Amino acid sequence: MGKRSDRLWDVMRASVLLVGIGLFSAQGFASQAFVEGEVIVKFRPGLSASSMKVRQKAGKRMKLQKSFNSLKMQQYKGQDGQSTHEMMSELLSDPNVEYVEPNYILSKTEVEGSQAYTKTEVLGFASGFGLTAADIMGEEGWDEVDQANLPVVAIIDTGVELSHDAIVDALWENPGEIANNGIDDDGNGFVDDVNGWNFVSNNNYPNDCDGHGTHVAGIVRGTTQYLFADPLDTPVIKIMPLKFLDCNGLGTTADAIKAIYYAVQNGAKVLNNSWGGGNYSQALHEAIAYSYNAKTLFVAASGNYSTNVDSSPLYPASYPVPNVISVGASTDNDYLASFSNYGSGSVHIAAPGVWVLSAYLNNEYSQMSGTSMATPLVAGVAAMMVNEQPNMTGYQLRNIILQSADVEGDLNNKIQGNRRLNSMSSVATAKAATVDPSQPKYVIYPSSDDRELASSIASGGGSGCGIIKLASDVASRSGTRRGPPTGKSMAIGFALLIPILLWMYMRQRYVDPQKRRQHQRYGVDSKARVYVGGEVHEAVIYSVSAGGVGLKTDASLSDHAGKTITVFVEQPGTGDYTIQLEGEMVWKGSHHEVGVRFEKPVNWFVELLDNWDLELNKI
Ligand code: CA
Repeated sequence: MGKRSDRLWDVMRASVLLVGIGLFSAQGFASQAFVEGEVIVKFRPGLSASSMKVRQKAGKRMKLQKSFNSLKMQQYKGQDGQSTHEMMSELLSDPNVEYVEPNYILSKTEVEGSQAYTKTEVLGFASGFGLTAADIMGEEGWDEVDQANLPVVAIIDTGVELSHDAIVDALWENPGEIANNGIDDDGNGFVDDVNGWNFVSNNNYPNDCDGHGTHVAGIVRGTTQYLFADPLDTPVIKIMPLKFLDCNGLGTTADAIKAIYYAVQNGAKVLNNSWGGGNYSQALHEAIAYSYNAKTLFVAASGNYSTNVDSSPLYPASYPVPNVISVGASTDNDYLASFSNYGSGSVHIAAPGVWVLSAYLNNEYSQMSGTSMATPLVAGVAAMMVNEQPNMTGYQLRNIILQSADVEGDLNNKIQGNRRLNSMSSVATAKAATVDPSQPKYVIYPSSDDRELASSIASGGGSGCGIIKLASDVASRSGTRRGPPTGKSMAIGFALLIPILLWMYMRQRYVDPQKRRQHQRYGVDSKARVYVGGEVHEAVIYSVSAGGVGLKTDASLSDHAGKTITVFVEQPGTGDYTIQLEGEMVWKGSHHEVGVRFEKPVNWFVELLDNWDLELNKI
């Protein structure tokens, strides 16, 4: 297997073209960190919608672009060459205005991408990875999913290719909207919003012209089931595409806020945010606090500037709202990816984000790297947890994901608690947990940086130039980002070929042979189901080690000696066969006993049985 995967690795490395580097490039930031000549105005509480009008001087008149009455916010555009600077200084003198912000420019957080592949090509590359069992895992794992109430994951991004094979049957459908009748049937403020919304063009067609959002959405689905089955299994989650980034992956704070409110108000439970940038925005901060109060989970990319965000925050991941998970990118060796932002105080967890294979434009597939790709892995795991516990709050989901993470020493001083996502443990813990509907009250207290910002607004001192200067600082910082990763972690690119639970098992199989050792064996009594030679048998596991298991089956397997045997292990008392292991049938006893040897040791397996409170006795 080692040689085969090495060869595969080489083939893939040779075939991958590094394209799109600097696609979203710092230049977008550097030249303009906000939309010149636009502002977001927040009015003081208690004002009626009709009195939400800014007082303007004679002469140059700003133009109202959009009004968000429920937020007490409006977006204005300057006229006759009016700058953001001039608009802000004028508006800050209006007693009805609580604050004014530039409309910051935000960007997708992808570093680089590969060429695109057809599904057939991908399956050709992947043949060395023993994928045939993967879809069995998908079916086994999710047979109790309530199809009428699948968790909705909002993809706040560049849109999603709506017709893509990997997406089309998983699209969220607005139950209150009748397609193409020109009427806002459900009265949510959006006409014919059947599958989501396009906030860039303000229409009901959130299709992707960049590829980023499609890739992100594919990762979310690929976390829950095998993305390359033909046909795909019935989806176990729903994708709500909310397009606010344009064909270059750029968007604005005003549109991000609208997308967040749409997601919350239309039933999304998990919000995926693979984007960032701009300066501190109280308006965006308030939108995320709103998503917290609505008990959703807000998963956000920590960014790709190899920067310590404890001291140089990147928003929205750095907003300290209790439902935000800031995600860094790790390699398949559990190191921090070279491009990933970090911060032991404020990047909460790492997840694989190097050369992840997922859906791309034109019904094809590609590999991409970035914290953009690590983020939807966390979102997908969260959605699987919601399948187990539909009433769990985003706050509780977050706590379980963080508590269930693996601790990786190589992430020390980089990621809070040295955490790396452990999807299987997160889902199992959620399933066993008692749902707690309560959550702490959250009030926005601006940090010291933010206070400095706020005071510069409040004083009107220098007529708001403080904000503009800070925005420039962000721009110059973004210009220092490092180059792309080396492509060293190619194996991770296959993560999305298979459901993540099986993938996490498989990666254990490829450990360095030098790490092999003799394993402690334990006596145990655990139900299992085995597949071998086209037959299925009930079984009991009576001994385990990291190197293999001893089983007693309900019939003789003597015809199958030496064959590959697949073992599904029941989580005690649940009837759910949540672990899949594969090995060689190495011996058989006289009473239907069978020995199964794993190709490589699976250390977490024994730990997991121990966590399940199965009695393990050393033998
Ligand atoms: Ca509507």
